[in-house]
Amino acid sequence: MLTDPLPITLDMRKAAVRGAGISGVLKPRDLRRFRTLLAGDEGDISVQMHCFRDEDGRYLVRVEIEANVQVSCQRCLEAMPEHLSSDTTLAVVWTDTEAANLPTYLEPFIAAETTSNLWELVEDELILSMRSFSYHDTAQCNRTAVAFVEPQLTAEAAATNPGPFSVLDQLKPEKK
Ligand SMILES: [Zn+2]
Repeated sequence: MLTDPLPITLDMRKAAVRGAGISGVLKPRDLRRFRTLLAGDEGDISVQMHCFRDEDGRYLVRVEIEANVQVSCQRCLEAMPEHLSSDTTLAVVWTDTEAANLPTYLEPFIAAETTSNLWELVEDELILSMRSFSYHDTAQCNRTAVAFVEPQLTAEAAATNPGPFSVLDQLKPEKK
């Protein structure tokens, strides 16, 4: 079981040349944008990364994430446990031009010249792995709370709280 914190930064180019594996854990409060989508600080995030080069000389990073966190049930608004799982291979690039020239099956990760922020990388992947809406199983859902939520208030809350979608929109790569 992983216990050491995930390093914050990594030189992706050197790591890929070495074929390095990097692993560690994070807490929801380590990831500020992700934390705003959760219902509490409880939880753990395990990360395993493997940096390597493919036969075309590209720099790739495989990112495997398993997370147990608390999200809000969209029916009764109470916290519920959620398991998030993500396994993505990204092409590490250094410029927008390189990103645009990737084959369509590869998603780019635009790296900094020397050290890249691994926590931000993990955060983006976690946000993408979230379901748009989570609900308790019907038997566990707090129906009493639902009954007291005024429809008008719910609509107002929806209008003022942009929810996970707005964050997702920012993350989506622009496809031409
Ligand atoms: Zn519920």
